[in-house]
Amino acid sequence: MAGGAYISIALGFAIGGGVVGRIKGSSFWMWFFISGAVPVLGLLAAVCYRSERDELRRQCPTCGRVCKLYDALCVRCGTELEFPERALASETAAPTLR
Ligand SMILES: [Zn+2]
Repeated sequence: MAGGAYISIALGFAIGGGVVGRIKGSSFWMWFFISGAVPVLGLLAAVCYRSERDELRRQCPTCGRVCKLYDALCVRCGTELEFPERALASETAAPTLR
């Protein structure tokens, strides 16, 4: 009896979590399923999920590819990356710097 209501609530959370995950640069379907499986917690996790686009970046000294700050190796040329003295602004922060 309560099953139908639960499913519609879970579906609502699933879609909400999916949309939030997608906005943050992650997978819609991954957060859709997480939020559907654990409705309230899943959506909260999606909201709190640290966006990939907010990560600081740095440039590979060998090939110039822009990598994430936490990358230990350049994904293009495999150069071992030291922790940089100066990080590039994150993708979300960069446009506001001008
Ligand atoms: Zn490189």
